[in-house]
Amino acid sequence: MNSAEIKEIYHRIKHFSDSFLGYPVSKDFSYQDFAPFLGICINNVGDPETPSTFAIDTKDIELKCISFFAEMLSTNMQDVWGYLTNGGTEGNLYALYLARESFPNAMVYYSESTHYSVKKNLHLLNIPNIVIRSQENGEMDYEDLEQSVALRRDKPAIFFLNIGTTMTEAVDKLDEIKRIIKKFAIKDYFIHCDAAFLGTIAPYVNPKPKFDFAEGVDSIAISGHKFIGSPIPCGAVLVKRRHRDRIANMVSYVGTMDTTITGSRNGLTPLFIWDFIQRHGHDGLKARVVAAQKVAAYTEEELNKIGVKAWRNNQGLTVILPKPSIALCKKHQLASQEDIAHVICVPGITIAQIDGFIADLKAEINAIPTEAEAVLA
Ligand SMILES: *Cc1c(COP(=O)(O)O)cnc(C)c1O
Repeated sequence: MNSAEIKEIYHRIKHFSDSFLGYPVSKDFSYQDFAPFLGICINNVGDPETPSTFAIDTKDIELKCISFFAEMLSTNMQDVWGYLTNGGTEGNLYALYLARESFPNAMVYYSESTHYSVKKNLHLLNIPNIVIRSQENGEMDYEDLEQSVALRRDKPAIFFLNIGTTMTEAVDKLDEIKRIIKKFAIKDYFIHCDAAFLGTIAPYVNPKPKFDFAEGVDSIAISGHKFIGSPIPCGAVLVKRRHRDRIANMVSYVGTMDTTITGSRNGLTPLFIWDFIQRHGHDGLKARVVAAQKVAAYTEEELNKIGVKAWRNNQGLTVILPKPSIALCKKHQLASQEDIAHVICVPGITIAQIDGFIADLKAEINAIPTEAEAVLA
């Protein structure tokens, strides 16, 4: 490509990046300082804790990131093991893989509001599974879960929980799952939390939703390019160490353990994540959450003011509203499903952008005649 072509593509993408409102990816980052690394093929092949004979890696930095996430999720590196993935999907796939290795004849329970990729993951792993109904707000319907578990109480159970559903940011209640496990005296179970979006948010929300290792879960998947933000999609998966030990085996070609889904792994994203962690830390993340919650509260309020029935789960960053016209969804890149759409107030979304969207929506609403006007016309 010549420089004019590169510039043209850059400007096209930059324009869309500046204007979107409907996806959970922060945009307030810049990793220009890391440009020199674009001349090196960094590869964190295999297990992050086992050095490879291929030494062009950032595994030391990757482990620092995992250690920070372990602390954030109320545990430590003695009890859990983890690695930086290509995103939430890989983390979920990995956790389900470990769950299946622990309980080969288990049944997976997950709600109908679960991310679309999970069905594919279950298909790849060939694990029997049951979709549980969701409540109106996107949270799992515990009565439906209870009935489903009651019918198969002799089978090991894998509970796949959403800590923030994709569409409405609903959080499945761990206490309800524990109640059902106890009620049916399920001995063999595995609890996974899909915290793709909320993984780096929920720990800083007050009161904190229950979902971490202190609550006894087996694994947690989070995305790195969502609330933290990264120019390359990435994520983290953390699991109880004993689950990882069960599947570990040494591969002589690369001189490391083949404990990860992919062989070659991104060595650049750990640098971005660690840079973010160093700059923000727990206090910075907390402030980031509070600031984003303010923008979300503002969005909900302003929408309600113009008569749009907008709502949020808890103190979520996701503002759900009745689906506007296709033209408006397209202009502001709002994701929609059936009759709802959402605005996700991630860092980088400004009040001015929200105001612009609300003005467009208001104009659209005013352009549609009310029932009374339609009768008169
Ligand atoms: C985004 C998301 C995923 C998928 O994560 P990727 O990082 O896009 O692979 C999975 N689950 C939930 C709840 C999500 O929001």
